[in-house]
Amino acid sequence: MAYIYKNTLAFAQSLDEQDQLRRFRQQFIFPSQKGVESLYFCGNSLGLQPKTVRDALLSELDQWADHAVEGHFKGDKPWMHYHKLLTAPSATLVGALPHEVVVMNTLTTNLHLLMVSFYRPTTSRFKIIMEAGAFPSDQYAMESQVHLHGFDPAEAIIEVAPRAGTELLNTADILEAIEQAGDALALVMFSGVNYYTGQLFDIEAITAKAHQVGAKAGFDLAHTTGNIPLHLHQWGPDFAVWCSYKYLNAGPGGPSGLFVHERHADNPSLPRFAGWWGHDESERFKMSKGFKPMYGAEGWQLSNAQIFSFAAHLAGLKIMDEAGIENLRQKSLVLTGYLEHILDELNGEAEHFRIITPRDSAARGCQLSVLTNNGGRALFQFLTDNGAIVDWREPNVIRIAPVPIYNSFEDIWKLGALISQYLQANHQS
Ligand SMILES: *Cc1c(COP(=O)(O)O)cnc(C)c1O
Repeated sequence: MAYIYKNTLAFAQSLDEQDQLRRFRQQFIFPSQKGVESLYFCGNSLGLQPKTVRDALLSELDQWADHAVEGHFKGDKPWMHYHKLLTAPSATLVGALPHEVVVMNTLTTNLHLLMVSFYRPTTSRFKIIMEAGAFPSDQYAMESQVHLHGFDPAEAIIEVAPRAGTELLNTADILEAIEQAGDALALVMFSGVNYYTGQLFDIEAITAKAHQVGAKAGFDLAHTTGNIPLHLHQWGPDFAVWCSYKYLNAGPGGPSGLFVHERHADNPSLPRFAGWWGHDESERFKMSKGFKPMYGAEGWQLSNAQIFSFAAHLAGLKIMDEAGIENLRQKSLVLTGYLEHILDELNGEAEHFRIITPRDSAARGCQLSVLTNNGGRALFQFLTDNGAIVDWREPNVIRIAPVPIYNSFEDIWKLGALISQYLQANHQS
């Protein structure tokens, strides 16, 4: 994007004035430190609290107090059907048909449940391809699923790694690895955006290649949903999972969303771990024997809805829906571009730090991962002590996520001013 940025407060404020989404910032609660509102850049880890969440939770407490068990059927949002309220806005965010999406459980749980259905290894086709450096929970899930089926992870799991001396993966290398694994490949399991580097993977190309060799394709979209517009139905992966507490602002431990492609919607014989909430709704309360799955993603549900966490999630989803993921992405490109510009300017000729996230804005989300030199931990501490909340990932990366729904250009400028202050105090030559 050809954008002429300036590292001045006036320039940042002028971008904020032009920002069509700036009103959304007021709908979130920023934490403060010693009475001063913090600069918040950790929405990739835990999104901020929407002001509407408190009332949403209180309203469910009232519903419980007023109706007790009858709350399942009474009130304006009966609990019996509560999960359906989350479906349409979730489907819009990930580009799915409504019956391809359901909200339930938490991310790692759903990953396991979908592996039960879509990782069906045989003695000849049992391998899984994933990215090296995937989020630990995903690594543990893959290893334990491989063990469950009696295979050895060292043999079954193929990790695609960056080429020597680089931090990022080449799409061509990923596709090549899939091609090579060929008939032995049961599943390709990738993230959408890698949590550490911020690299966005080509979900469509990876899916097409996996299918071409006869494997299934699944994605962990924890860092992708609410960050990047997705077209899951069209791109065609078999399944995907995401969490709601990062870019969807549902609060700590918020529920997970899952996607199962329409091609698997009407296949009752697909193995799965079943529960009563996945059973044909019209017969659910007959309490009879013989599991009959609901059509589509709802057929993977186990339990009745976790109302309090769903209520918080719904409040956050409504805001995302109102803003629109395409609009958010447009702002995000400029916002993260501004951070990149300021970091580059502060670096100048020096190499105080290095951005490892792709420089191509089409190949990343909002997060920039900054690889620091020896003094990285001290810089991180300085930012933390001065009211800027960013995060540190071992061994030496600071992750900064300007989130378009609530961050401003002024936030970015202020962060830049703090980094500049630190560099001037610590790197006088
Ligand atoms: C945040 C995150 C998780 C977290 O999983 P939970 O089950 O919600 O605790 C898993 N995978 C990835 C890629 C993540 O970024």
